Amino acid sequence: MLYVDGEWRGAGSGRSFEVTNPATGETIGDVADGTRADASQAVIAASVAFNTWSRFTAFERSEYLYAAYGLMIERKEALARLMTEEQGKPLRAARNEVQYAADFFLWYAEEAKRVYGDVLPAPRSDQRFIVLRQPVGVVAAITPWNYPVSMITRKVAPALAAGCTIVVKPAEQTPLCAIEVFNALHDAGVPAGVANLVTTANPAPIGDEFVENPAVAKVTFTGSSEVGTKLASRAAASMKRVSLELGGHAPFIVFADALPEYAAKGASLVKFLNTGQACISPNRIFVHRGIADVFLDVLVDRVAGMRAGNGLAEGVNIGPLVDMQALEKVDRHVTDAVEHGATLQIGGQRLIDDGLDAGFFYAPTVLSGVTPEMEVYNQETFGPVAPIITFTDDDEVLSLANDTGYGLAAYVYTQSLGRAMRMFEGLHFGIVGINDINPTAAAAPFGGMNQSGIGREGGREGIAEYLEVKLGGFSI
Ligand code: ADP
Repeated sequence: MLYVDGEWRGAGSGRSFEVTNPATGETIGDVADGTRADASQAVIAASVAFNTWSRFTAFERSEYLYAAYGLMIERKEALARLMTEEQGKPLRAARNEVQYAADFFLWYAEEAKRVYGDVLPAPRSDQRFIVLRQPVGVVAAITPWNYPVSMITRKVAPALAAGCTIVVKPAEQTPLCAIEVFNALHDAGVPAGVANLVTTANPAPIGDEFVENPAVAKVTFTGSSEVGTKLASRAAASMKRVSLELGGHAPFIVFADALPEYAAKGASLVKFLNTGQACISPNRIFVHRGIADVFLDVLVDRVAGMRAGNGLAEGVNIGPLVDMQALEKVDRHVTDAVEHGATLQIGGQRLIDDGLDAGFFYAPTVLSGVTPEMEVYNQETFGPVAPIITFTDDDEVLSLANDTGYGLAAYVYTQSLGRAMRMFEGLHFGIVGINDINPTAAAAPFGGMNQSGIGREGGREGIAEYLEVKLGGFSI
């Protein structure tokens, strides 16, 4: 279903497409296949609504966001189950994501009221400077399948709080979750045209409309570096604002003074979260030579205890990969690493027993002896593979960690305050977890450097992305 100008409707073409469960291969829904013309109508609706929404007081806009938060929490269980069916992550992880997603409505309900201006000192005695922050206008958002609810609310909540209106195009793999977010917005009473949803199986024409339509003031994208870079370069032609949250290649550094068991526990939890399908997933685990054996033993032991399967089943902590292509990429990286001399400690194959062949399951995998010649060292695997690299020297590991085009998340384990601070300052990444695997929250700025993107989502930085700065110079 499309949600345009406050109404649910089918695609203009009358076509729809099927949504499947990646754990079972079953069809779980049929969704409107929106076209470029549908996207254009949604942009028109958002432009019209902008005239009124941007003039609402911050207190009024805030009320709608509080209502959306309340509804998301009320519907948490149903939404989490839907997410597990549509995206595959275990139910517990899905519940956590719904909470995280709802938190953006709550945080920005509050931040809406804290968009302050400034009065600045002016050079002349008869002059006054005032700075206003005003909404940029209509926002077009493109979101991914790996966090199908929170990646939408992380854009919609600050946009609406700032006074912008928005059109969202969710990933073709997870439109049902997107529809439920928009059901919450609708039921929260958000006025027609303020938030619009265009589902589609064919994203390119919608992306074309977003970057070419002059009524769109800003494009915000979360997804692959490849698509994001193309969209940004095209948006530049009409000088649209862009925010991009792209891939990552996170280093996870364990120093000799870390507690190896604790670090290995952290690595096992964050690496296999969402089956490794997260842009902040550790992709290069650097372990000091002196503690590598203990670290590896604990990690392999924990991985051996993981259970893959349908995320609705009790005790499952590894869901499926999103599709066959993803599974093949993971397998290719593992095969290439082993061919180049890595040691397969555990895992390393597709899981097909007990009905898992109906989905896209890959065994959680640990590779040791990983070196820079291997694909897994250089590319984002986006799967359940933990590549271990050993090191001896602080400067060496810092330069290895920074030696990537990406710059999203990095993790450091050490008990030395000085070392922690040197790493925090020296790592060229937007998010650094120090003995911490979950440095994310609605209140915190999330985003990357280099090819990992432009801009930040969450925190007070997140709303700034949707605001223009206007200077008034008054002669009195
Ligand atoms: P992934 O490899 O993680 O699926 P993508 O960048 O392909 O990453 O997908 C992220 C989002 O970008 C999804 O909503 C997808 O539909 C959208 N997308 C993919 N290709 C295009 C395109 N050519 N134009 C606009 N959006 C696109």
